Amino acid sequence: MKKISILIPAYNEEEVLYSLYRRLVTVFDSIPNYLFEVLFVNDGSKDNTLPIIRGLREGDRRISYVNLSRNFGKETAMIAGLDYAQGDAVIILDADLQDPPELIPEMITYWEDGYDDVFAKRRSRSGETWIKKSTAQAFYKLLKKTTRIPIQENTGDFRLLDRRCVEALKQMRETQRYTKGMFSWIGYNKKEILFDRDPRAAGETKWNYIKLVDLAIEGITSFTTAPLRFSALFGFSISIFAFLYMIWIIAKTLLYGESVSGYPSIMTAILFLGGIQLLSIGIIGEYLGRIFNETKKRPLYFVEEYNNQKENPTTQGA
Ligand code: UDP
Ligand code: MG
Repeated sequence: MKKISILIPAYNEEEVLYSLYRRLVTVFDSIPNYLFEVLFVNDGSKDNTLPIIRGLREGDRRISYVNLSRNFGKETAMIAGLDYAQGDAVIILDADLQDPPELIPEMITYWEDGYDDVFAKRRSRSGETWIKKSTAQAFYKLLKKTTRIPIQENTGDFRLLDRRCVEALKQMRETQRYTKGMFSWIGYNKKEILFDRDPRAAGETKWNYIKLVDLAIEGITSFTTAPLRFSALFGFSISIFAFLYMIWIIAKTLLYGESVSGYPSIMTAILFLGGIQLLSIGIIGEYLGRIFNETKKRPLYFVEEYNNQKENPTTQGA
């Protein structure tokens, strides 16, 4: 029998775990010819998430868990889960029931048809503010323009991945991860299915605007060096303009003599160029910082405990 792992990153999700478990079991019962593994990655939760998962494991051995040594963020929790998942296919699911588990049988059907990456695209995003919706839309547009790989719009991490996609993703050990881009980058046969995203079942979103801006910068800087190119081109065109302007000033001075006025134009030029320089240095710094982080070659995460077993820090997440 084929084994399917359900990978669930969980950070402070105590309120939803039982209803999540119940809905999963109903789905599993509807497709009895598969083995299932529910792999929770407890991402340093501060509430009762871990004890609840332990309790669930007591009653149902299909459940297993990885307990990370602290909160590493969802992107890292996902790669930890992929490292530990045993299934022939892995389905990544949010704990908060925004990704309906009822879609799992459909995903499996497409997988059996030969697709390697069956991703669920949101038809609607209910329970999200229009600001979040429109900023998300603008961001996807920018990302598509600047990177050459097709990024799937309105798609989260909710998807089924064949073993070979999982192995591909496991080889990508960059510390600052933008998983959504990686799914596209690795390629393989993709299949889109549509669904309506529900609002969170309970609890609160772990994202705030600072984190989202962070993720957006991550997305751009980890998949394209276009901003570097842009600032170089911009600097180049400004220098051409400045050169022509210089010739004009020299000619004017030779023809009409020196004039004392010109304070506004000097100020404008200095301020404008100063701004551009700072911006370009900032962009370079953004990439330099990433190089710095990668050169440290740290493991991506540490596991405190896997299925009641204490883990040693050697070679983990490396
Ligand atoms: N999550 C995580 N670590 C974090 C933040 C979130 O593992 O630091 C998990 C969270 O438990 C949930 C999923 O990532 O299962 C999505 O988080 P959330 O629902 O807060 O994000 P949203 O749906 O609002 O984008
Ligand atoms: Mg959510």
